[in-house]
Parts: sequence; structure tokens; C-alpha cells
Amino acid sequence: MRIGFFDGVREIGGNKILIEQNGKGILLDFGKRFAVNNTYFNDYLSGREWNGPNDYILTGELPPFKNFYRGEVSPNSVNELDVEIKGVFFSHAHLDHIGLIDFIGDNIPKYMSGYSEKVVEFFNEKGTIKPVKNVKVFDSPLEVAGFTVRPIPTDHDIPGSFATEIETEKGSIFYTGDIFFHGRFSEKSKAFVEYAKEKKPYILITEGTRFGWGFVSSPTEGELKAQIVSVLDQCGGILFGNPYEPHISRMFTFFEIAKEKERDFVVTLPYAFVIKKYSEIGDALADEILHSDKFFVYKPKRALKDWENEFEDRFMDSDTVMKNQKNIVMLLDFKSTPELIDIKPEKGAIYVHSGGEPLAGLDNENMKILSNWLNLFNIPYFRIHSPGHAPQQTLLWMAREISPQILLPIHTQIPERFEIVSDNVKILERGVMYEF
Ligand SMILES: [Zn+2]
Ligand SMILES: [Zn+2]
Repeated sequence: MRIGFFDGVREIGGNKILIEQNGKGILLDFGKRFAVNNTYFNDYLSGREWNGPNDYILTGELPPFKNFYRGEVSPNSVNELDVEIKGVFFSHAHLDHIGLIDFIGDNIPKYMSGYSEKVVEFFNEKGTIKPVKNVKVFDSPLEVAGFTVRPIPTDHDIPGSFATEIETEKGSIFYTGDIFFHGRFSEKSKAFVEYAKEKKPYILITEGTRFGWGFVSSPTEGELKAQIVSVLDQCGGILFGNPYEPHISRMFTFFEIAKEKERDFVVTLPYAFVIKKYSEIGDALADEILHSDKFFVYKPKRALKDWENEFEDRFMDSDTVMKNQKNIVMLLDFKSTPELIDIKPEKGAIYVHSGGEPLAGLDNENMKILSNWLNLFNIPYFRIHSPGHAPQQTLLWMAREISPQILLPIHTQIPERFEIVSDNVKILERGVMYEF
């Protein structure tokens, strides 16, 4: 059996993990690297459309997988890896794990949770990801490429994340995906650690995102709520929140604040899209928001699409928001920031950036633009957020509990940190297949 990491090596995000035996393989995640790691392409410069994946493969930005991509791989242009990939398992729907899904050929099955499927629809709508075929909801063990692959639900700052177990002749391989233990559903992550520990695994592939971060605290949703309320109580105007759109747990925290303060809860259309999609698959938080009589959808003045008009009976226009602003908690995604022109925020308004775009620390240009907008309206900016990853001490605890024979760090800038808890940490080089 061989394992290779094609990104996520000494970097956070971009995970692409290939596990192969007898010439057949499965991939765990196929993510886009964060913009800070861009080398040859960015938002302005893409590979030439007519050349399919080849510009990316030739520059080393996509792995040289055979019969895998949409569009032909140019013969003789690259040394293709001789592995037949039978399926890709997406641990969750953050772009650094799923963002390159639209490069994958229609013939390759794409396994993911029901939630992730909805998030892919959200990214289609937004134009971030092109529509894809052969998506399969993955919620029970499957036999693929001679491996038994099993999803084990975990908690992360997007719903529907799972750790993956791959049963092999040498024992189980576990891949944590991205994981934390301070969210609303932390018991899932704890149950995963218990389960993995019992299996006495052969290999643990684990994230180590927060190694090297200078802080160890991890506020819970309840603690974040208290922080936001403490600011709101002193300012008293409209509360603008900016959580990441698919992060329903955080959205719900703002909803709870609205309820507690007897304010209306108004969201822009991207949030409404996610709430509706999650509600369709029975998400309790989304359901509660959707059925609350305090829930409204902000109506922009532009022409609306069909799906947007479905919220007609919940629409609130800018004039109404403007007149009642002291009684409103409003989720305002970054792209909707110019709506401030119509809302005309009054004294006491506050803006709480809580994980939504632009990603602080990863997107300085847009952070500057956001800050300029808020200054234009004299709205104070507060970053009240909690990372979606376990802090360093919890990562070490998790690795110690699971105690695998071999530990492979990924999605971390400092893989060596796991050497504190294991004598058998192997640090893989990007793009190299290793025998295990
Ligand atoms: Zn990630
Ligand atoms: Zn993630």
C-alpha cells in the first residue's frame, strides 16, 4: 500500500491524499490551496480554458493523475501517476478541501455528506465552483478500490464534516479531516476519538492547523454570544454580523442574540439560501430560524432570481431596515456591504466579523476594503470569532489518545510538533508516494 500527500504539506489547506494498493486508489479531499500559497495562478490569471487541467499539471499546481480530470491530459506532457482513482471522499465542504472538485472528471464518484452536497450547491450558485456530476451522499461504509471506507461524524465550523476510516490488511487508517472540540456538536468529535482509540490504528493522518498559533483559547458559541452581547449592550444600534455563510452554528448564535434582545433577525440572500438548503435535509438549527416569525430576508433593489423570490413572504426592504435599525440583528455578507448605502446606519451601529469573508489574515486586500467601508459610515469593527480547529494542547491529547503505530501530519505548518506524543511521526514530502 502506498500513501501520498499532494498538498497540505507544511501548509494549511489544499489537502489531497492518495491511498493506493494494486494500482487502484482513493483520494481523501481535493482542496484548493489558500491564496497566500498562489504561485502561478490567482483570481486574475487562470490556466487556459482550452488546455483543460494541463496548465495546472505542468506547473505542479494539480497532481498528474491518470484518467481523473475533466478534459484530456496532454499525452507526453507529464509523467502520469499510474494509479486508477476509484473515488474521492470529501471530509467537509470548506474550499481548502473541496475547492477543486470541478476539475474532476464526471466518471469519478464524489462522496460527501448530505450537508456538503448542499454547500456545493451554494458554491455553484455563488459561482465559486462549477456544477459537478456524480456526487454521492456518503453516510455508511463503502467498498472502494479494495478498501472499506467509513465516515465518522465529527464537529468542525461547517456542518457535515467527518473523519474517514480506511480499513486495510495492516489495520485501520484514520484521517481526522479538520476537527475541533469546542463547537455545538463537540460530542461527535469526542466519540470519534473514542472509536479510533478502540481500533488501535495502523496510521493516523491528522490535521495540526493551530501548531505555531500564538493563542490557545477556544471560545464556545455561548462565550462568543456573551462577548457580542457585551458590545451590543454598550452601543445599542443595529448589529451587523458577518459569519461564514455555510456555518449554521455561528449563524444561530446571532439568531439567539436577536431572540434574547427581541430584535428582528434579517439575513442577506446567501445566508437565506443556506438556511433553506440545510432545512431541506432536516437541520434543526436551520429549521428553527426558518420557522421563526422574527426571521426576515433582506430584499436588494436589483432584479431577483427565481429562487430568491421564494422568500417573498419574508422580505424586508432597506427602508424598513433603516427605520427600525435599533431593533435588528442583520447578517450582512461581504459582497452585500454596499447595502450600507441604503440602510444608512445610525450612531450605535456595530459590525461583528465572525469568520465570514474576507478571511482575516489570509486576505489583506479585502480586509482593507471592508475597513474602508466601515470607516465611511463610522461603524466600529469587532472581530469576535473562534477557530474551527482544536488548539495545540487538544491536538496533542487527541494524538496521544488515538495512539497510532504511525502518525502522518497534514494541514499544518509545523508537522514536527507531533513528535512530542509519538516516536513514529513520518513527514511526507509533497507529491511523493510512500510505501506503508
Ligand atoms: Zn482545512
Ligand atoms: Zn475546514
